[in-house]
Amino acid sequence: MSDPRFEEILAPLRANVKEQGDIVRKLKAEGAPDLDIKQAVAELKLRKKVLEDKELSLAPTSATFDRAKMEDLLKQEQMLEVDCSILTPETVLKASGHVDRFADLMTKDVKTGDCFRLDHLIKAHLEKIAVEKNTSPDVKAECRDIHTKLEGMNKEEMAAVMEKFNMKSPLTGNDLTEPIEFNLMFGIHIGPTGLVKGFLRPETAQGIFVNFKRLLEFNQGKLPFAAAQIGNAFRNEISPRSGLIRVREFTMAEIEHFCDPSNKKHPKFDDVRSTELLLYSACNQMDGKSPERHTIGSAVDKGLVANETLGYFMARIQTFLTRSGVDPTKLRFRQHMSNEMAHYAQDCWDAECLTSYGWIECVGCADRSAYDLSQHSKATGIRLAAERKLTEPKVVDVIEAVPNKAAIGKAFKKNAKQIVDALTTLSIEDIGNIEAKLDKDGTYDLVVDNNSFTLSKDMIDVKRYKKTVHVEDVIPSVIEPSFGIGRVMYTIFEHNFKTRENDEQRTYLSLPALVAPVKCSVLPLSSNTDFHPFIKELSSALTKLDISHKVDDSSGSIGRRYARTDEIAIPYGITIDFDTLKEPHSATLRERDSMGQVRISLNEIAEVVHNLSYNKLTWKEVENKYPKFEQQESKGN
Ligand code: AMP
Repeated sequence: MSDPRFEEILAPLRANVKEQGDIVRKLKAEGAPDLDIKQAVAELKLRKKVLEDKELSLAPTSATFDRAKMEDLLKQEQMLEVDCSILTPETVLKASGHVDRFADLMTKDVKTGDCFRLDHLIKAHLEKIAVEKNTSPDVKAECRDIHTKLEGMNKEEMAAVMEKFNMKSPLTGNDLTEPIEFNLMFGIHIGPTGLVKGFLRPETAQGIFVNFKRLLEFNQGKLPFAAAQIGNAFRNEISPRSGLIRVREFTMAEIEHFCDPSNKKHPKFDDVRSTELLLYSACNQMDGKSPERHTIGSAVDKGLVANETLGYFMARIQTFLTRSGVDPTKLRFRQHMSNEMAHYAQDCWDAECLTSYGWIECVGCADRSAYDLSQHSKATGIRLAAERKLTEPKVVDVIEAVPNKAAIGKAFKKNAKQIVDALTTLSIEDIGNIEAKLDKDGTYDLVVDNNSFTLSKDMIDVKRYKKTVHVEDVIPSVIEPSFGIGRVMYTIFEHNFKTRENDEQRTYLSLPALVAPVKCSVLPLSSNTDFHPFIKELSSALTKLDISHKVDDSSGSIGRRYARTDEIAIPYGITIDFDTLKEPHSATLRERDSMGQVRISLNEIAEVVHNLSYNKLTWKEVENKYPKFEQQESKGN
């Protein structure tokens, strides 16, 4: 703070702080009792705060930071990325339905208490029966049928299966309990009193819903808009598996796309209309049929996929997964059966990938309708709605409960504000009921936060009038793609783990260049110092083009070094050899999957790798343009 006038004001405050600081120092030096030191430190903190507050009040503000301008800038982004809290109060998850319904079914060994996730147990049991020699074809068919429908079965249906097949604990052979609902959320106590109950978030979505108002403002109040979030979610899985498939803490990436419930068209749907997807409809699952290929355009036209926006995201999910390395022949979209779908969802398709674990759900894509926002509106009394412009203004009947603040204040004193607030957030239906009850009995018992207040007729004036409106309120629908990052990564690894023909020892990862963390290796043929300037030049050319690369000048044959780079998925390798030293300088460029090599002049090579890495050029095009470099690649050379 350079202004001398300010320093004049601050000087006594600074002196105050210093005075107390000296006292603390002195007490410490003298080895004074702890309590005395603590008291002196508390006083020091108080004085520091007075000084800081004064400094802040004198500091020039708006000249250096214009929040409105910054927010304007942020508003220009198309999708908003947010980072919400992991600790979630119980009220939020009660409103969303998670406290009551986010549960899996389990069963326990009646003697040992061992817990089993029920659907897994049934699946394993049926699989065992189905392969037994003396199982009749009818029972085998029944097992298959139950297997297909298992995901959508409720408690009673699973209990019936347990009974029918006389299922026991697979560990001990003991009897099992009836199915038990087990809530998957980790409970926590927030704050020092331990009285505020909460949970670790089981999905990232709820944070976006409770911040809806602000996000809508960022989007100038207009629909559609979307918010995205990447972060950890926590579920107390009954039987987590090893690896990344079912864990209790995992990374999710979710997009909440808010749109007008009466118009779920998507402006970019035409761009994806002809994308073909393998769709496993609920109908086909129920009928025991296989998945079928459809363009997303025809699936939406036929009503198989509920609407364009849902279809748009399904097509984009497929593009994202396959570009990231998921094998397109091992990808399907499975529709939730009606009894499997969350109670609020209008339609839901899971992107499932075939792995050694079977088909696993990697991405969920659901139309959650207006459920979440309606629930949070109900719970908080704050209407989470957007405005829709009417094509023509319309005249509407308005009904309002106007509180008589004086009468309410007199009767209810400190509760008056609570009652007035509650009256202003009533729905039309509630007002109608209150009016009818007041007319009939002269009183109405208003319940606010579990307390009942008896209101008399003079406390409320119900007003009716007509109003011309240009917009109407709508609670947006939400379309939600929800990615389990661990599962997607696992699938990509499994689909890209390959073995070289004729050499089982030589494994490699064929990750697409776009997602490979290191795009290129630079391998000098030997440790000859003549190569050094070329390595340096190449490395800086690659850095200039943002190509992540690795120079491997360790000893070892070139074949062995290539094998090592193949294992960590590096898609391209540049070898500097003795021909590089000659004019015109050139090097070989090798592609990991085909192991093909071409010779390219040194000043072009970085750009070629850049274009290959970002899908601007194919390897085939490179092979057509540049001379092939023929040399046997083996571990020995
Ligand atoms: P859901 O909200 O249940 O549809 O889950 C969304 C996505 O999160 C799923 O498609 C999975 O990819 C992933 N996911 C769910 N549960 C787990 C878990 N326990 N471990 C790892 N990923 C999970």
